Amino acid sequence: MHYSGLRVLAQGMLGNRGWRPAWRKPVPKPAYDAVIIGGGGHGLATAHYLARNHGMTNIAVLEKGWLGGGNIGRNTTIVRANYFLPGNSAFYSFSLKLWEWLETELNYNVMHSQRGLINLFHSDGQRDAFARRGNAMLAQGDDAVLLDREGVRAMLPYLDYTQARFPIHGGLYHPRGGTARHDAVAWGYARAADARGVDLIEQCAVTGIDIEGGRVIGVPTPRGAIRAPKVAIVVAGRARQVAAMAGLRLPIESHVLQAFVTEGLKPVIDHVISFGMGHFYISQSDKGGLVFGGDLDFYASYAARGNLPMVEHVMEAGMTLMPMIGRARVLRSWGGIMDMSPDGSPIIDRAPVEGLYLNCGWNYGGFKAVPASGWSLAHLMATGQPWRDAAAFRLDRFRTGRGIMDEEGTGAQHNLH
Ligand SMILES: Cc1cc2nc3c(=O)[nH]c(=O)nc-3n(C[C@H](O)[C@H](O)[C@H](O)COP(=O)(O)OP(=O)(O)OC[C@H]3O[C@@H](n4cnc5c(N)ncnc54)[C@H](O)[C@@H]3O)c2cc1C
Repeated sequence: MHYSGLRVLAQGMLGNRGWRPAWRKPVPKPAYDAVIIGGGGHGLATAHYLARNHGMTNIAVLEKGWLGGGNIGRNTTIVRANYFLPGNSAFYSFSLKLWEWLETELNYNVMHSQRGLINLFHSDGQRDAFARRGNAMLAQGDDAVLLDREGVRAMLPYLDYTQARFPIHGGLYHPRGGTARHDAVAWGYARAADARGVDLIEQCAVTGIDIEGGRVIGVPTPRGAIRAPKVAIVVAGRARQVAAMAGLRLPIESHVLQAFVTEGLKPVIDHVISFGMGHFYISQSDKGGLVFGGDLDFYASYAARGNLPMVEHVMEAGMTLMPMIGRARVLRSWGGIMDMSPDGSPIIDRAPVEGLYLNCGWNYGGFKAVPASGWSLAHLMATGQPWRDAAAFRLDRFRTGRGIMDEEGTGAQHNLH
């Protein structure tokens, strides 16, 4: 069913009785050409691009819960292409280009809004670092504007410029950065993949990886064994657990990251703002809620909920940057499980088991990566070759030490990236 304004109008006049479910509820087949474990953003995008770019439609996505119930529906929705290091910058640049066509491609309103992202800096040293990052972004073909203090004040007059504990010296403005509605991205990819014949199977946890003679042959599930010569592990914070089912030990740690939303307010923040003197970022949703977050809770965990010290830390950072935020009431908060890699960069690669593929290590930045990640993994699975802009995301960099991409410059500390 094609979605359009005309259809919304016609359905409204007909009592909305003609809508069809966005995807089917198929019974799992005993065998597929490929199986993707994990119905988050990356798994669904992979399924979509396998079908769309490579004509592979006899595939299944196996999701232990419901589509969009993982991190894809839990993030703070920031989309940007401001990475610094070769290997990362081209990939995120490609991803942003895919975002810019996504709604047309999926025929789905993911509410992608390029409202601009401003990273604030508060010292001369930070200014130098952001100037360098901005130059790297320009060299990559993306957009970046270095603002001085008055430039930031003209755009964000409501920040504290007079008594701030960490005075604002300026900001790096990325006009094409912005936000998108996170769960709509999952639904859009799901609907598009389903329309091409992909089976999306919810409530179907994979409980093992079947291997014979060094080759993957399928996966057991409570709904029966499913055979497939190609199996991709795309389970974000559960990557290490699922890879262990194949006897692999991944260099991934799972950490909690929290997000917060206030009551709906009149439009006040029309950009995405990132504070440079604490880990704090904020935007305003189209419904009016202020959406914000901060750093990881500093312990490894599989619980999709955080703890009070980080709540306090995030609130303090918000108050420091923008005291008026103290008058808004926080309505909701939640946590998601981050798949932290030692260098803060992802893995899209073959596993050391024939036919088994890995997609993980997205840290707290995998939402913006969804389109390019799905595209790249689909390319690898269909052609056997890494996609042009994802060739650096190799697993063996953690064994050989070659090709480490320490994007944050914080060393091999999962919890510091
Ligand atoms: C609070 C928060 C804020 C964030 N903010 C941003 C942001 O602003 N910008 C940004 O770019 N990124 C952000 N991220 C990161 C981003 O959300 C993640 O990196 C990304 O969503 C992870 O990939 P995914 O969507 O595929 O994961 P998920 O949606 O978690 O998908 C993985 C799926 O695998 C399923 N699964 C697990 N085990 C099994 C199994 N055994 N069998 C079957 N299925 C299984 C899970 O149920 C889950 O649905 C944030 C994350 C959080 C939690």
